[in-house]
Amino acid sequence: MGNEIALFRSFISKKGLRNTPEREEIIKEIFSSHDHFDVDELYLRLRQKGSRVSKASIYRNIPLIMESCLIREVWHEDGHMHYEHIYGHGHHCHLRCIQCGKVIEFVDQDLFEIEKRLGTKYDFEILEHRLDVIGYCSECRQHAAAAGDRS
Ligand SMILES: [Zn+2]
Ligand SMILES: [Zn+2]
Repeated sequence: MGNEIALFRSFISKKGLRNTPEREEIIKEIFSSHDHFDVDELYLRLRQKGSRVSKASIYRNIPLIMESCLIREVWHEDGHMHYEHIYGHGHHCHLRCIQCGKVIEFVDQDLFEIEKRLGTKYDFEILEHRLDVIGYCSECRQHAAAAGDRS
C-alpha cells in the first residue's frame, strides 16, 4: 500500500466519511504515473486496466482527493481542468507547448525572490505561487520552420 493511500484513509476518517474501494482505485491510478491528467484520460487509463469506475465517479471524487492535498488543479485547457499529484512531488512550475501539449516542469529560484518581494510590498503572507508559461517548444518551432522552408 502506498503512503498516499494511508494518508487518504486518515484524511477520510478525520472527516468522518466512509472510504470506498473506488476512491482508492482512482488514487492508485493517479499515482501509478507521474503525468498530468484530466478526467477523460484517467477514465481511459482505468478502463484499459479493466476497472469499472465510472467517469461520474471520478468527477465526484476529484474534489475530495484535492481536499486531501494529494492532487491539485494545474491548468484549464480545452474547456476542462487538468490535474497532477503533488504528494511526494516538490513545488514546480510548468512550461506548456500549445502545439503538441508537451509540459516541461521547472523550478527557478528567482521566483522565490519575487515571492519575497511581493510579500513585503503588499504585506502578504505567501504560501506558494503557480506559474503556467504557455508557448511553443523547440521541436514544434523546428517543424514550423521546416514547413515554412518548403513553401
Ligand atoms: Zn511542441
Ligand atoms: Zn507538474
